[in-house]
Amino acid sequence: MPPKAKPKYYIKYKNLKIRLPYDPCSGFCIICRRKTRSTNLFHWFFKYSNNDVKSNPFLVLKNTIEVCRHHYHIAESIRHISTIKSDMLRKYLKSMDTQTKNNIDKLLRLAQ
Ligand SMILES: [Zn+2]
Repeated sequence: MPPKAKPKYYIKYKNLKIRLPYDPCSGFCIICRRKTRSTNLFHWFFKYSNNDVKSNPFLVLKNTIEVCRHHYHIAESIRHISTIKSDMLRKYLKSMDTQTKNNIDKLLRLAQ
């Protein structure tokens, strides 16, 4: 019987597909603390260049959390908001209703 092939796990990082020797996912969402069949790794930001990640694939696990699909989308929204430029953010704030502004204000106070 031929030797069993090593499992291959791929993680997307920017436009790359990086192979790891093991599955880094435990199936546990760090936000809702539920065990689920399908979790995803979410990168808060992409610190490393494509070449850095190609030469050291484990860098894809830095600045990364494991989340369920629902919390992946929320984290993605937070990442987008956190990277928006100030002048554009002012435009969004100007267009918002009071309730949404209050919700944003509450979120910002939690981040302190
Ligand atoms: Zn979750």
